[in-house]
Amino acid sequence: MVTRMKVVLQNLTKKFPSRDRKNRQDVTAVNNFNFEIPDGKLIGLLGPSGCGKSTTLNLISGLIKPTEGKIFFGEEDVTGLAPEHRGIGLVFQNYALYPHLTVRQNILFPLQNLKGKDKLSKTQMLERTNEAARLVQISELMERKPKELSGGQQQRVAIARALVKMPKVLLLDEPLSNLDARLRLQTREEIKRIQKETKITTIFVTHDQEEAMSISDMIIVMKDGIVQQIGKPQEVYDNPVNLFVAKFLGTPPVNVFNGQVKNGRLYIGQEDVMDAVGCPDAEVYAGIRPEGFILDEKGSLGCKLKGVEVMGRDISIVSSHTASLNTTVRALIGTENRVDMGAGHNGGDILVRFNLVPHKVFLFDKNTEFCLSREGGSSGRLS
Ligand code: ADP
Ligand code: MG
Repeated sequence: MVTRMKVVLQNLTKKFPSRDRKNRQDVTAVNNFNFEIPDGKLIGLLGPSGCGKSTTLNLISGLIKPTEGKIFFGEEDVTGLAPEHRGIGLVFQNYALYPHLTVRQNILFPLQNLKGKDKLSKTQMLERTNEAARLVQISELMERKPKELSGGQQQRVAIARALVKMPKVLLLDEPLSNLDARLRLQTREEIKRIQKETKITTIFVTHDQEEAMSISDMIIVMKDGIVQQIGKPQEVYDNPVNLFVAKFLGTPPVNVFNGQVKNGRLYIGQEDVMDAVGCPDAEVYAGIRPEGFILDEKGSLGCKLKGVEVMGRDISIVSSHTASLNTTVRALIGTENRVDMGAGHNGGDILVRFNLVPHKVFLFDKNTEFCLSREGGSSGRLS
């Protein structure tokens, strides 16, 4: 039913003129993007606010023109094409439905504007509208007006309206940001299901790492208009290219320490905490994932205990360390591994000791912040 389409960005750059009187330098919102988004996949475009996500999406949709570079849908160069000729579906954070039209009329609307060979009969239009409504599960709401719907339902109508033209590429810009926490979870599962069912190549923009990680086949992590890393969510989490990516993914976040590599060993403070074979002697940042700590009274790293939080499946041990860049060090310990705290007294402070899980510890160069302990390299190509 749908045409699956890969999307290729080639040397894609967008600069905006500076509005700052003191700093006349252009803002480079998208800086030389070169990658291929495979057809039929759901891609999460992820990064903090202002990093250029919406600009990237608007370039792909044709709403704005690039300063340099090209965009291809399949083999076709669409760089010069107007948005309405690109075969895209767009969904934004604010649902932007027509308030005076019913749900059915809202979904129908884009089809009524089709001209020439694309023009549909009344019956075809209604069939398509019903099919789109079925996909997003709002068939029983067709006669309502937008104001009679919840936020989640309105967003489903907006998605149905984007799907009804059978787009080659579906572009979603922070579509869940206006929904409350529970609806956000539910709607993101819905989006995943719809994408799987329709196989439409989908680009999903979000600043929420958990959201992107949970539904994307691939994530693209951006910072300041520059792609940092592309890969499957788990691969990027397990193998971050730099300190920024390591810190951006994961809750609770990675724990960062000042460390030192000497003779193939990693030192944190005075303690020799683990093997660092292959790393040259240097000052480093050591990033330790919360699940990378193992409680052990003979453990190599001692932290000052501040508290223990029980959170159902896990126990979170909160502590501090003079070499830690974060005020608290957070270790997640599965309840099944519950052992004696292994705490000893140390001048009034309770010390808790950990061993470290090697593949949960990343070492970063202090100047470049690149990861020193990564396996393999990253490429700009998704497959
Ligand atoms: P995100 O969607 O990741 O929050 P945007 O793509 O909206 O980020 O913005 C990226 C950068 O480009 C920001 O610094 C923003 O201020 C700037 N920017 C976006 N749109 C414009 C515009 N129309 N004119 C000038 N600067 C812009
Ligand atoms: Mg944005």
